[in-house]
Amino acid sequence: MLYVKNLSVKTADSDILKNLSLEVKKGEVHAIMGPNGSGKSTLAKVISGHPGYEVTKGSIELDSNNKKINVLELDIDERSKRGIFTAFQTPISIANLSNFKFFYSFFEAHCKFQGIDGMNESDFKKYLADIVKKLDIEKNFLDRNMNEGFSGGERKKNEIIQMLLIKPKLAILDEIDSGLDIDSLTAVSDCINNYRSNNNAIIMITHYQRILNHVKPDYVHVISEGRIIKTGDIKLSHEVEEKGYN
Ligand code: ADP
Ligand code: MG
Repeated sequence: MLYVKNLSVKTADSDILKNLSLEVKKGEVHAIMGPNGSGKSTLAKVISGHPGYEVTKGSIELDSNNKKINVLELDIDERSKRGIFTAFQTPISIANLSNFKFFYSFFEAHCKFQGIDGMNESDFKKYLADIVKKLDIEKNFLDRNMNEGFSGGERKKNEIIQMLLIKPKLAILDEIDSGLDIDSLTAVSDCINNYRSNNNAIIMITHYQRILNHVKPDYVHVISEGRIIKTGDIKLSHEVEEKGYN
C-alpha cells in the first residue's frame, strides 16, 4: 500500500527525518511511537503533502489500482482523493465554514473523483447521522463552525468522522488518542476497528500503549531523532510503557 524509502526531510533550519524507510501492506496496522519531537507528525504531514517541509532524499509511493504512484508529485487534494487520509494531531478551526458544509463538500469531491454518484443533501444527512451516532457528540455540532470552540476530544472525533465518511485506503492517525476520555477512547477505537479491513491500512501514531490495547497493531516502530530505531510487535509497546523511551 505505502512505500516510504530512505526519506530525508528538512525545514529551513533543521533536518527532521533522516533516511527513514517504512513499508505498509494492505490489511496492516502499524503503530509509530516515539518521544516528543522525534519526527512522527512530520512523517504524517509529509506523506499527506504539507508544504512546509522539503524532501531532500528518498521516495514515497502508494499502490493505486495495482499501480505504484509517486506520491511526492501529487498536490495535497490529489493525495487525499487517491486515498491518503491524515487525522491531524492538532486539527485547526475554520471560521465561517460549518462542519456540515465541510463534510458534504469533502464527501462529494471524493465521490466525483472516483466517478461514483454522490448523495443529495438529505440522504447525506442520514448517512452522516449514522456515523455521528457512534461517537456520542452534541447534536448541534454539525451546525457549528469547523472545530471552532471544540474541545481536544471533539476535534479528534471530527477527524474520525471524516475517515468514516470516505473510508480511505490509508489512514494516518496522529495521536488520535490524545484528549479523549476513557469512553471516547473506546468509541473512537471501535470506529477504527470497524473501518479496519483487508483492503486498507492504518498508521497509528501514539505516545501511549493504551489505545493499542483496543486497536491491535501488527507492527510497532519506535522513532527517535527522525529515524526508526526499532521495529517489533505489540510487546515492544509494552516495553516502552514499562521502561520509557530512554
Ligand atoms: P513529534 O510529532 O514526534 O512530536 P514533530 O514531527 O512534530 O515531532 O517535530 C519533529 C522536530 O521537528 C521537532 O523538533 C520540531 O520542533 C521540528 N519541526 C517540525 N515542524 C517544523 C517546522 N515547520 N519548522 C521548524 N521545525 C519544525
Ligand atoms: Mg506529533
